[in-house]
Amino acid sequence: MFLDQVKVSVKAGSGGDGMVTFRREKYIPDGGPAGGDGGEGGDIIFVVDEGLRTLMDFRYNRHFKAKHGENGMSKGMHGRGAKDLYVKVPPGTIVKDAVTGTMYADLTDNGQKAVIVKGGRGGRGNIRFASPSNPAPEIAENGEPGEDKEIELELKVLADVGLIGFPSVGKSTLLSVVSAARPKIGAYHFTTLVPNLGMVNTEDGRSFVLADMPGLIEGASQGVGLGIEFLRHIERTRVLLHVIDMSGVEGRNPIDDYFTINEELEQYDLKLRERPQLVIANKMDMPKSEENLAKFKKELKKANEDVEVFEVSALTQKGLNTVMSRTVDLLETTPEFPMYEDETDKEERVLYKFIPENKNYSITREPDGTWVITGEKIEKLYKMTNFQFDESVMRFARQLRGMGIDQALRDRGAKNDDIVRIDDFEFNFVE
Ligand code: GDP
Ligand code: MG
Repeated sequence: MFLDQVKVSVKAGSGGDGMVTFRREKYIPDGGPAGGDGGEGGDIIFVVDEGLRTLMDFRYNRHFKAKHGENGMSKGMHGRGAKDLYVKVPPGTIVKDAVTGTMYADLTDNGQKAVIVKGGRGGRGNIRFASPSNPAPEIAENGEPGEDKEIELELKVLADVGLIGFPSVGKSTLLSVVSAARPKIGAYHFTTLVPNLGMVNTEDGRSFVLADMPGLIEGASQGVGLGIEFLRHIERTRVLLHVIDMSGVEGRNPIDDYFTINEELEQYDLKLRERPQLVIANKMDMPKSEENLAKFKKELKKANEDVEVFEVSALTQKGLNTVMSRTVDLLETTPEFPMYEDETDKEERVLYKFIPENKNYSITREPDGTWVITGEKIEKLYKMTNFQFDESVMRFARQLRGMGIDQALRDRGAKNDDIVRIDDFEFNFVE
């Protein structure tokens, strides 16, 4: 498998802070609360762009931050929500938690999206805290912090183009000269059915993934079953390059090779014969090749086989550019060949799982006697508290009590005036 991996950090935007303010209008001595809510922070959403083929873009761009929501304003105006940040990834990208390995998304299809981190909601302004018993509250929430994660992107590249043909016709050699892949040349016995993959960059700046598919024919003739990974490659492959040894050094007739391989393709029943094929007449540097090629073309015509033939020498690298750019042309006009009619199977693989929020808090004690309260929920409440206003602080105190933290401290033996710390906030415990 041709794998590309990169670690990236993503931070969603925080919500904007809610505002504390009161109406101050002419002739109205005591206006009511007028502080609007903060806007929502931006999510970070990954989206598949089939124009991308690698994770190259992430090599130099590893930190993504979505914008924060705007703060609430006076006259009850809400802050504007931040725009979500879209990050493009190539098809076949798996998004995992870099620390726990939890999978967040398996992004395969063009346009498919997954929210990787959620923006925080906006803090509520003081209008929202008004009640008959407290018509002029000095309470507002700060925005909820955006989620952040260290993630790992893993790209599983599937082949766009497959090299097929008899053993020793030069498939591995070809792959090695048109891409950076280094398959074993002349290695007759394959040991694995996972194809060798390489990225081909054409002269005009286009690219595709080419796979040497030795297992397809050689494996079949020896009764080896195709692995699931291999089938995925075949499914994705839209163009086949049929390599034929024109030198005849192996003692076979090129036209027989051509028909034998195509019959095998037919037998697989994987719609392989529906895929466009280009014939690569290889080893044209050899003495008998010209003559054999002329015969080959004649036989094709006789059999009414309408297929393009390209003269190539993988050894001297002659004729390669022409066939590679013709291959990309074909790729651009050839749709995929889904192996399964039912696509629901595929959709179920998509995961949008988030680690559930840890609702519990924990209490520890430092050597100097300070009680330390940690936990996702409590730390979030702390960040969302506007400490400028006593009433807001009192609300926070009520929230602590509501979570049972007061009682828990008492149970653990906390005494009046003991110091309690949450994040960077310290206060005295009051019995
Ligand atoms: P594969 O089994 O189809 O992968 O074939 P290989 O790439 O392993 O090549 C088999 C043999 O053919 C090796 O000895 C290669 O050096 C040789 N070969 C490959 N391409 C050419 C070519 O264009 N010209 C000549 N003369 N030999 C070649
Ligand atoms: Mg080979």
